[in-house]
Amino acid sequence: MAAATSLTTPKLSSPTLQSLYRNFPIAIPFYSSFLFLPKTLSSIPPRRLSLSPSHLHRRLFTVRSDSDNGAEPARRYDFDLFTIGAGSGGVRASRFAANFGASVAICELPFSTISSETTGGVGGTCVLRGCVPKKLLVYSSKYSHEFEESNGFGWKYEIEPKHDWSTLMANKNAELQRLTGIYKNILKNANVTLIEGRGKIVDPHTVDVDGKIYSARHILISVGGRPFIPEIPGSEYAIDSDAALDLPSKPEKIAIVGGGYIALEFAGIFNGLKSEVHVFIRQKKVLRGFDEEIRDFVAEQMSLRGIEFHTEEPPQAIIKAADGSLSLKTNKGTVEGFSHIMFATGRRPNTTVQTFFFPLILWLPLATLRYLGILINDCDIKAVGLNLCIPVRTEN
Ligand SMILES: Cc1cc2nc3c(=O)[nH]c(=O)nc-3n(C[C@H](O)[C@H](O)[C@H](O)COP(=O)(O)OP(=O)(O)OC[C@H]3O[C@@H](n4cnc5c(N)ncnc54)[C@H](O)[C@@H]3O)c2cc1C
Repeated sequence: MAAATSLTTPKLSSPTLQSLYRNFPIAIPFYSSFLFLPKTLSSIPPRRLSLSPSHLHRRLFTVRSDSDNGAEPARRYDFDLFTIGAGSGGVRASRFAANFGASVAICELPFSTISSETTGGVGGTCVLRGCVPKKLLVYSSKYSHEFEESNGFGWKYEIEPKHDWSTLMANKNAELQRLTGIYKNILKNANVTLIEGRGKIVDPHTVDVDGKIYSARHILISVGGRPFIPEIPGSEYAIDSDAALDLPSKPEKIAIVGGGYIALEFAGIFNGLKSEVHVFIRQKKVLRGFDEEIRDFVAEQMSLRGIEFHTEEPPQAIIKAADGSLSLKTNKGTVEGFSHIMFATGRRPNTTVQTFFFPLILWLPLATLRYLGILINDCDIKAVGLNLCIPVRTEN
C-alpha cells in the first residue's frame, strides 16, 4: 500500500476505534533506557525539579544557551537542546527539557507508515509502526475467537461474520494520522520547535537538517531503529513488521521467521484473522530469554489455535513461483504456497558512524562504564534507546 503522506488529522468514523482512542494514553511511556540531563539542568536543586503540574506548565527558570561554565567565554547557540528523532524517547525528552525552561528543537523525517532512510514521522515506531497499530490489529483479531466462544453461550449467527481488511487498514491509518497530530501538538504546547527533515551531526554542537545548520548546547540522538531482514537468496520477497502492519490485503498463508515477541504477536494477529500461519525458529523454543514455563505455555496455546511451529528450522532461501506464491527453503526441506513471508528477526539502529566519528569507537568502553553509572563525566551528545552515550567531547 502506498505510504500515506497527508499530514492532516481526519476525523475517524468508526465508533469502535473512537472508543479505543479515549482509552489510549496520550503520553506513551518513555521506553528508552538511558538519558542524561544537561549539566545546566542537573545542577538545578532537586526542589525545583519536582514534577508538580505547575512546574510542567510554567517556566520557572531559564536555561541559557551560553556556556554552562562561568570560566569559559560565553557562546550563544540557537538552542539549548537539539533532539534528532521525534519518537517516544525524543518527544518526551524534548518536552520535559522545554518544560524545565530549555529552548529545544527537534527534527523528524516526513510521515510514512513505512520507515526508511527518508521517511518516519512524529510519534516514531511505537505510535506509527509498533505498539499502537499492532494493538489495533490485535483487537481486530481477537473477535474471531469471541465469535466462536459465543456459540457455547447461546449466540447464533445467521451468516458467518466476515472480516474486511481494507476497513481495518483505513481506520488504523486514520488513527495514526490523529496520533501524529497529537504528538505535534504536544511539542507545540511545550514550545519545542519542530523541524521536518533528516538530522545529521556535523560537530558536537552543530546539526545539519537537510542542508540547514543549527547550533545547540546539547544534542540528543533518539533515532530509534528499523527492522532488519538478513540477506538470504530471495530475501527481497520478504516483508518486515512495518509492511506487515500496512498490507493491502490480508495474507492467506504466511510464514513468520523469528521466535521473539514481535514474531509471536504477528502470528497471533494473523491466526485470529484466519490466515494460515507457520512460525520458523532457529531454536528449540520460542521467546528466548523468557521464563521457561511461559515459553512452553505460549507455544502450546498458540499451537492449539492452529499455528504451526517449525523449530530448529532456520530459513535458507525464498523462492518465488510463476503464480507469485512463495516457498521457504530451510535446513529441513521446503514449505510452499505462502502469500507472504515475514521476517521478525531484529532491528538495527538508525545511526551511521561517519569517518569523522571513528575515533569515538575508542570511547565505547568508557560509554559502557558511564551507562553503568561508574563514570560521571559530562558529554554534549546524548543517545536515547541505544544504551550508549557518546562522549564526543568531555569538558574539563
Ligand atoms: C512491531 C513492534 C511492536 C512493538 N510493541 C511494543 C509494545 O507493545 N510495547 C512497548 O513498550 N514497545 C513496543 N515496541 C517497541 C517500541 O516501539 C520502541 O521501543 C520505541 O518506539 C522506541 O522509541 P525511540 O524513541 O527510541 O525510537 P523510535 O520510536 O523509533 O523513534 C525514532 C525516530 O527518529 C526518526 N529518525 C531516525 N533517524 C533520523 C534522522 N537522521 N533525522 C531525523 N529523524 C530521524 C525516526 O523516523 C523515528 O521517528 C514495539 C516495536 C515494534 C517494532
